[in-house]
Amino acid sequence: MIVLRVALAVPLHRLFDYLWQGESCPAVGQRVRVLLGSRECVGVVAEIVDESAVPVEQMKPALALLEDLPPLPPDFMALCRFASTYYQSPFGEVVMQALPAALKRPVAPRRRSARRTVGATARPVPTLTAEQKQVLRELRAMKGFSPTLLHGVTGSGKTEVYLNVMQDVIEAGGQVLLMVPEINLTPQLEERVRSRFPEQSVVALHSALAEAERERNWRAAFIGSADIVLGTRLAVFTPMPRLKLIVLDEEHDPSFRQQDGMRYSARDLAVFRASDLGIPIVLGSATPALETWANARNGRYRLLQLKERAHREARLPEVRLIDTRSLVLQEGFSSALIDAVSERLHRGEQSLIFLNRRGYAPVLACPACGWVSHCRCCAAHLVLHLAGRRLRCHHCGFETRVPATCPTCGNQDIHPFGRGTQRLEAFLQERYPQARVLRVDRDSAKSRKQWEGMLQRIHAGEADILVGTQMLAKGHDFPKLTLVGALGADAALFAADWRAPERLFAQLMQVAGRAGRAERPGEVLIQTQYPDHLLYRALKEHDYEGFAEAQLAERRQAGFPPYAYQAVLRAEAPEMALALRFLNAARASPLMADFPAVMLYDPVPMRLARRASMERAQLLAESPSRAALQAFLPRWRQMIEGIKAPARLRWHIEVDPLEL
Ligand code: ADP
Ligand code: ZN
Ligand code: ZN
Repeated sequence: MIVLRVALAVPLHRLFDYLWQGESCPAVGQRVRVLLGSRECVGVVAEIVDESAVPVEQMKPALALLEDLPPLPPDFMALCRFASTYYQSPFGEVVMQALPAALKRPVAPRRRSARRTVGATARPVPTLTAEQKQVLRELRAMKGFSPTLLHGVTGSGKTEVYLNVMQDVIEAGGQVLLMVPEINLTPQLEERVRSRFPEQSVVALHSALAEAERERNWRAAFIGSADIVLGTRLAVFTPMPRLKLIVLDEEHDPSFRQQDGMRYSARDLAVFRASDLGIPIVLGSATPALETWANARNGRYRLLQLKERAHREARLPEVRLIDTRSLVLQEGFSSALIDAVSERLHRGEQSLIFLNRRGYAPVLACPACGWVSHCRCCAAHLVLHLAGRRLRCHHCGFETRVPATCPTCGNQDIHPFGRGTQRLEAFLQERYPQARVLRVDRDSAKSRKQWEGMLQRIHAGEADILVGTQMLAKGHDFPKLTLVGALGADAALFAADWRAPERLFAQLMQVAGRAGRAERPGEVLIQTQYPDHLLYRALKEHDYEGFAEAQLAERRQAGFPPYAYQAVLRAEAPEMALALRFLNAARASPLMADFPAVMLYDPVPMRLARRASMERAQLLAESPSRAALQAFLPRWRQMIEGIKAPARLRWHIEVDPLEL
């Protein structure tokens, strides 16, 4: 008897047994067509055994093995198994989410071969700086699994270093996986890789690709015809038979984290994958995640650094703090910042005003009765958007027209409070009628096409003042940009989220890095009421290390990650009481006696306590030992699965959560 134990996209932590009676010989990793209930679906053979707990007469036969592709390789299965265990996600769901949609359909897809992109023009390769050469020498000496953090200031030529190591690997016949946070934000990088390797097949893998193209590219990686895979977080699962190097750029970026469905860190999975395959991995950033920095400091990762900008004339920008405590601001702008913008306009240079809040104003309010624009489904304000005069919820997407009068008291004089990018744009346009003001955020650059169009305009010098969110902070060279002004940064200093300062520092450092990338020196002005805050002082000195050490010392003292390991159980239900009751049941676990090193906190409502009409609460599990937490989680999960919960309650566990 041949029994196929099949992984299916079902939210259950088990495999499904099917009888194999066909002619061909099944293999682990092969896709198989089966009936689940009465529905035909595709799964992956995880094990082949000769007996089953299911009585033979009740076991369904597998319908067919899909032989359009070779079986998925053992290292792919191992990665999925690890992800499933580590993140408490059902193995079948992990395996199936890793496959392109076309390969999950019961009908075999048509075979297509990857389109060869041609015509990328080769660009001159710069002579490496002494620092780059040194780093490259050390990287070339890597053998086997050697995780490396490449910490280099913005514009220090990290990408140039990656391209050089990649070249070695490709010349030796290997494949490279190059991972980036969001390809859409960095079309320049894709172009740069293609033009550096005109002879090689470079394929992109990200969620914005059309389904057919994604399948084609995935297939090319899998059969080994693609030499370089340039991908976002989901690409970490791509099977690659000759994979010899993983490079993960901007490793600190939160978009490497999958926030819904299967919650995982693509960076951490990439490190597992490299260790499993015994190959090098390079994590690069100007502002590494504190977890990564701690790993580099304690010797788990090797630390290589680039401290100078690569361009001979490029200097790091001068950072000035504008103490706004005693200043009168005009629409949020200090006169020093206004003067600096005027000066750039005069000189024909570009300015960038950074504010990480889109929309016109975060809230609309009535001064007469105190009414504010609340979302009816979330514990959040509706944001005022000027286009179409809409109020919009940034959490659930609810939208409504701006009322002409106060809905509560009828007052005609209702006001926007606070500021978003649209409001800054409106003010700047009014203040400088001659200037070309360009707003860049997720509202103005919705599609890749719009975004590329904007980048082109910026490069061509067709914009004088840019107003934007952190979208503008990522890896672009704007040669004419010499001034960056930051507004509203203080909010993150005292946020309840203890990771907020780390994110703020990274964003400001990245956005500051946009200024003065070429021959012209750059200047960064940060408006703050706390000019003595350590974060700003470190920023002024371009001192990532000083900031990181201070943050790590605080975290150690408070017992926060990376000095503790966390998992969070979240529940959402129509009423808060239901969610809390469920979490309390999970907390009253008799298991705790077996796990003295694991601590469960009290259930609490989440910061955004209501979203899309569901009340949300969470329960934190924490341990000083990762192993202890990992041993606890599967048993805890099983126990939670046994709790009788109301039908409309949903729950999940997130391991190493980024936000609490
Ligand atoms: P990073 O990835 O660290 O931000 P890049 O590799 O993108 O840095 O380099 C920043 C800029 O400096 C780019 O315009 C790049 O072409 C240029 N550059 C990189 N290395 C050199 C070099 N050795 N000589 C001259 N220019 C360089
Ligand atoms: Zn009112
Ligand atoms: Zn809402």
